[in-house]
Amino acid sequence: MDQIVLDNVTKAFPTKSGSPIIAVNSVNLNVKEGEIFSFLGPSGCGKTTTLRMIAGFEDLSEGEIRLGEKVVSSSKRKLYVPPEDRGLGMVFQAFAVWPHLNVFENVAFPLRVMKKSKSEVNEGVKKALHHTNLSNLANVYPSDLSGGQQQRIALARAIVTNPKIMLLDEPLSNLDPKLREHMRFEIKELQQKFNFTIIFVTHDQSEAMAMSDRMLVMDMGNIIQVDTPTNLYNKPVNKFVYGFLGLSNFLNVVREDDKVYPDGSKGIQIPLEWSEHIESNEGVIATRPNEIELVRSEDSQGLKGQIIRRNYLTTGIEYIVQIGTQTIRVHTSHQNIHPVGEIVAMKLVNPMWYERESADAEKERNLRQVI
Ligand code: ADP
Ligand code: MG
Repeated sequence: MDQIVLDNVTKAFPTKSGSPIIAVNSVNLNVKEGEIFSFLGPSGCGKTTTLRMIAGFEDLSEGEIRLGEKVVSSSKRKLYVPPEDRGLGMVFQAFAVWPHLNVFENVAFPLRVMKKSKSEVNEGVKKALHHTNLSNLANVYPSDLSGGQQQRIALARAIVTNPKIMLLDEPLSNLDPKLREHMRFEIKELQQKFNFTIIFVTHDQSEAMAMSDRMLVMDMGNIIQVDTPTNLYNKPVNKFVYGFLGLSNFLNVVREDDKVYPDGSKGIQIPLEWSEHIESNEGVIATRPNEIELVRSEDSQGLKGQIIRRNYLTTGIEYIVQIGTQTIRVHTSHQNIHPVGEIVAMKLVNPMWYERESADAEKERNLRQVI
């Protein structure tokens, strides 16, 4: 069953310069019951705004949001169910704990707002603390706790009302890498216990890949692609998504007389058929550094280039290879040794072809950055 449905949702914010900024542009989305669904994208792409509209903190310029069977936001009908009546739990990036309340009272807060009886509060808080490993810290004040423990308080407070849906907005961003990994695991465990539907917002692709059943990638207010982590990684629909999901090389290429050349280097022919998907005579070939086989030039008919730098990494060797006026990165094992200056041949394991991106796209993304 679809538990969260966004139907043509748009949010425009007015600006001083006159033309409004479209933070979220005609978004359609269905999140199924029990799913962990991630929103991934760079700062300013519209993740938080989308989440805030689902939560009911922000009205809609256009469109409708349903939670389960119930319409909770509708721009046409001017209908907005308040956040506390949407059956949600929420955790945000900043540790939103109250310093003057101890752990128990921090977690009890939503139940007190709901005017629950004393025994209901006690029982609910006890359970939430148990599931977030905070039981023995009930009387402690947040200032005596670590960042990880404080973020657990926020989690406990989010689950204490038994919500069906959890909205998590970069909840792990302020934690160190080791703790982040641990908390990912804890969130997944909680999800399995309670079977919430989770929307998990992050700008960290490995976090999204590790957490999600499905995820979407947003760019400048638009959803670009929705899929499972594996499908997204293996079949990005455009250059932006490809670049966002892992280490990448982009080689600008041109077609002339049905042959493929690196842009600006007509002397070097690339041994690939021009992709039918590219409509013009200009395109981009995308590769990942670890999906390129490097061999000595005499041994192969592959794409030719010259090694101009060699970096030793813990995981292997990185070669910077010059192809005409462009360079690409190649990652090999420590055993695959080539000297700087050698002409090598490269076999691209799974090259993807994309249209070029408009020159304004990166500028527009930077304008949208949220600090
Ligand atoms: P993300 O969470 O993906 O980093 P946001 O949803 O916070 O992005 O922001 C999307 C865009 O909307 C940004 O360009 C941001 O500056 C703009 N924006 C967000 N909130 C407001 C607001 N209250 N007023 C004006 N502009 C806003
Ligand atoms: Mg945000």
